[in-house]
Amino acid sequence: MSDTEQHAVRIGTRTVTTTDSLVVSSPFDGHEIGRVPRCGPDDVHEAVAAAKAVLADPLPPWKRAEILDDAAAAMARHRDELAQIIAEEAAKPIRTARVEAERTVITFQSAAIEARSLVGEIVPVDGAQPGEGKLGFTLRVPRGVVAAISPFNFPLNLVVHKVAPAIAAGCPVVLKPASQTPLSSIRLQEILMDECGLPPGWLNVVTGSGGTVGDPLVEHPDVAVVTFTGSPEVGWAIAAKAAEKKVGLELGNNAPVIIEPSGDWETAATKISVAGFSHAGQSCISTQRIYVHHDVLDRFTAALVPKVEALVVGDPLDEATDVSSLISAGETERVKGWIDEAVEGGATVLAGGTLVGAVLAPTVLAGVTADMEVCRSEVFGPVVSIIGYDDLDDAIAQANDTRYGLQAALFTGDLDAALRAAYELDFGGVLVNEVPTFRTDQMPYGGVRDSGNTKEGPHYAVREMTRERLVIIQR
Ligand code: NAP
Repeated sequence: MSDTEQHAVRIGTRTVTTTDSLVVSSPFDGHEIGRVPRCGPDDVHEAVAAAKAVLADPLPPWKRAEILDDAAAAMARHRDELAQIIAEEAAKPIRTARVEAERTVITFQSAAIEARSLVGEIVPVDGAQPGEGKLGFTLRVPRGVVAAISPFNFPLNLVVHKVAPAIAAGCPVVLKPASQTPLSSIRLQEILMDECGLPPGWLNVVTGSGGTVGDPLVEHPDVAVVTFTGSPEVGWAIAAKAAEKKVGLELGNNAPVIIEPSGDWETAATKISVAGFSHAGQSCISTQRIYVHHDVLDRFTAALVPKVEALVVGDPLDEATDVSSLISAGETERVKGWIDEAVEGGATVLAGGTLVGAVLAPTVLAGVTADMEVCRSEVFGPVVSIIGYDDLDDAIAQANDTRYGLQAALFTGDLDAALRAAYELDFGGVLVNEVPTFRTDQMPYGGVRDSGNTKEGPHYAVREMTRERLVIIQR
């Protein structure tokens, strides 16, 4: 394919291109990476119809499991190619992109397990007198067509977190990838259909903007489930528009970590030097707010800062690069503005704070206050803030003082403090002696408040995409 030829999407049995293209450019240096169809509402209608048709001709669970196992093997085979696409379209450093591509293997494998083991439960209806002589149980049945809408920051694995459980659940998908990162979704679709035996209609890709493609998809009467990962603003607006559908939202966060005097602050510093800056902080669980007990504050800070300064900033395709550019110049400007606002308000820059070419240098701030954007909002950039505390109650209260609630963490050597964190940190996940940025793909993952309303991880997502049907049989 020539550089300017459009990468086609598949809708049902059709290979679709459009007259107009959506041009995908490198966030790092602006060069054109590829062109994809600029789909519209008619394509969305066709895609939903193709998906709906599949529901009339379902695949048995063993076959779905086989396709998912084949997909896991295909992801391993195509790891380097997929990593290259992710690195180019998302400006994700190539080593980090490789990890994302590798993670899809586990995501598909976990979904295959779900396809093989999805069951309802026995309902003890005869525990009440009217149920005497009756056998009750539930079946898990597919809810219907799934609309999957994904963000730019994990353009492959977060798509797989929607597509793989949907296949396991028996639900066909219409996928709208982020406009900045559609190429990995298109390649995924080709691999699943051409190499893994996924029949037409099971995965339909519609590329185009949120307004043009996303709105008609979310509002389509034949869509039963909307699974969305992205910003709270877009997510809650979708939930309002799709009130009668099952809507799963995975949204933002400003992840806190608390470091107690008994905690292993050296390990914490090493882990945070990665966890705060991976993909330039553009992860929903990027470590952002670091609450450190005053007894270890100076030593922790002295350990963290040189590690952050040693991070290599540059081209995402360079093997040496740790941190590359944000997804757009506008985002770089926003994050730089938040750093400047913090400094004007009295914060100190301990590392970074400047641009290296067009890339924002990994930044460590001290002396921030709770009302500053870098603390109270989701930075989604390479910036962490160190905040001293004296009392664990106070640290937990500060960590909880947020509109978000995805994951939080505590480093401690004290069992009581660990248990307090588990009970009192009001987040979807609490990690002890690990950063809040930790995730494996089979675990339940999701938040509270403005971080969302659901759990992903194939075991959990499959349950969201199916519903229980009660069956009662009179003996
Ligand atoms: P975003 O701007 O909300 O976009 C996410 C997706 O929504 C994109 O595909 C976007 O399409 C689409 N969209 C926009 N407007 C829409 C509409 N009216 N109807 C339907 N779809 C619409 O988010 P982002 O900037 O890509 O991602 C960053 C956010 O995602 C951060 O807040 C991050 O924390 C969150 N995130 C959360 C998780 C999690 O698991 N909790 C994981 C990763 C990221 P276009 O690209 O065409 O605008």
